[in-house]
Amino acid sequence: MSIKGIQQNVQIGELMKDFVEQTVQFYNTLDVQPVYRPASKAIYKCMEEQSIPAYGRPVQDVYSEMLQNIYTHAFLAQHPRSFACIPSTASLLSWMGDVMTNAYNPHASCRINAPIADLVEKKLIRWMCSLAGYPEKSGGLFVSGGSIANLTALAAARDCKLTYNERNQAVVYVSEQTHSSVTKGLLMIGFCKEQIRVIPTDSRFRMDINRLRESIGKDLLEHRKPFAVIASAGTTNTGSIDPLMDISKICHKYGMWMHVDGAFGASALLSEQLKDELSGIEYSDSLSWDAHKWMLQTYGCSAVLVRDESVLIKSFASHPEYLKDSEIYPGSIEFWDLGPELTRPARGLKLWLTLQVMGSRKMGKIIEHGCALANFTEMLLRERPKWEIISPAQLGIVNFRYVPDVHANSHDIDTINSEISRKITNSGFAQIFTTELRGKKVLRMCTINPETTQKDIRGTVKELERFARTFLILLLFPFFNLHFSSDIVTEKCVLAKAAGGSKIGSRKDKCEERMG
Ligand SMILES: *Cc1c(COP(=O)(O)O)cnc(C)c1O
Repeated sequence: MSIKGIQQNVQIGELMKDFVEQTVQFYNTLDVQPVYRPASKAIYKCMEEQSIPAYGRPVQDVYSEMLQNIYTHAFLAQHPRSFACIPSTASLLSWMGDVMTNAYNPHASCRINAPIADLVEKKLIRWMCSLAGYPEKSGGLFVSGGSIANLTALAAARDCKLTYNERNQAVVYVSEQTHSSVTKGLLMIGFCKEQIRVIPTDSRFRMDINRLRESIGKDLLEHRKPFAVIASAGTTNTGSIDPLMDISKICHKYGMWMHVDGAFGASALLSEQLKDELSGIEYSDSLSWDAHKWMLQTYGCSAVLVRDESVLIKSFASHPEYLKDSEIYPGSIEFWDLGPELTRPARGLKLWLTLQVMGSRKMGKIIEHGCALANFTEMLLRERPKWEIISPAQLGIVNFRYVPDVHANSHDIDTINSEISRKITNSGFAQIFTTELRGKKVLRMCTINPETTQKDIRGTVKELERFARTFLILLLFPFFNLHFSSDIVTEKCVLAKAAGGSKIGSRKDKCEERMG
């Protein structure tokens, strides 16, 4: 039963041409669009009421509906003033590669299925391994993201360093800034929380090496089996790089596995100017490296690399009877033997296209641009009296907060900063989220988008200051805003709560009346 009437295919083609035009237009005007477009109640209602129809609808209708209702009602992570989380740097080159790859939908699991795609992905992996300073026998594969890259590497570490009977005594070391996906992965492969040591960090949020040594020493005395250290090259909160060289020496001394979570920061290897900051990475046993974070790729593109490819084969190879026909290339290493997936898309092809068109030098310059913008942000904030830098610019990330000089306790300051984040984000001008560092709520900016300019940063700092001043006025003169819009009244209530003092208690009640 064919579903592919030639006529429908032609119609789909026409709609897709329209889509391509609209998409190019969308990207060309990103900077004048709001960074956040909430969906209206009508859209929610429309989509909530839909179900899967028993009989299909015209493709034109579904196309228009999805275009209008779904895609643009979101935080635009690729917007030049999106500074929250790790914003997307996705380029149209990656999108083009994605569209091309999806169109042909290669089953990129083994060489026989898609031999040249296989070759290209393997060349990319080799290139990334050589940037990391790994030897010839290294290898790896593209997976969907840093979380799965970490999981894959952790399974290899377990199988390489522990016998089955040793698993119960095993302990692994992370820092208090290690990404949550590492703990998630460790729990998934059978460890429990009690086997994970969380090492404190120094003033720059890097793993404290002396505390790591102490912790390993203690575990050895208590007859446990330290088997792996998870170092970060670019933590998600602060962009900090753990002391990789020191960690590699410790791992070498105790025969432990060293995994580097470079999901965010490994891309700095592309920059002549920055790569030395990652030195020591070449002694690690495995490395996670997201191309969808800082190498301009659309989502679902990350690499897990290992210093010795045979460790992945040991953990993941299986040779079921229904895959025997593929084993025609002696010595060929198949992707399905290197990781958890069988069917996989050729995730590397869009990266190949991007790198072929741009060249690796330009990619390196883009990384430097992101770092320079974070330095610039830090400089602008330092020029302003009430802004405190909590973590200086590292790998394109800076953390700071507004501290009014009027009386405000730490809870008030946390509230004010959360509200500044909420206000600037809801305004649509820029997206900035908070995080917590040493118990303080802080504003965090990650400035890695290559389309972001100094003007964007200046404008954003100005807006931050403007919202902060609104709160300051409200703190000082709570009676000032009784007749303002309900939004401001809401704000005032938050501050009344933050201030907590009885002197504005009656006004707080009035606010709540008005809000109700
Ligand atoms: C983003 C990130 C991850 C998780 O990667 P995903 O691609 O989101 O799964 C892991 N580690 C670090 C340091 C990250 O920044």
